[in-house]
Amino acid sequence: MARKAEARVIIHLACTECKERTYTTTKNRRNDPQRLEFKKYCPRCHTHRLHREVR
Ligand SMILES: [Zn+2]
Repeated sequence: MARKAEARVIIHLACTECKERTYTTTKNRRNDPQRLEFKKYCPRCHTHRLHREVR
């Protein structure tokens, strides 16, 4: 099942304020070698926060 070079990896998105891991997604390491950032709703902060990739 392990694909060639493992380009596609599972990442978690954590709220930058409360560090809650709110979202799980995948990214392509070739297209996004840097840390991804998304502005998403955080259920713990009850508002939109910047979420950053963690592993
Ligand atoms: Zn939060």
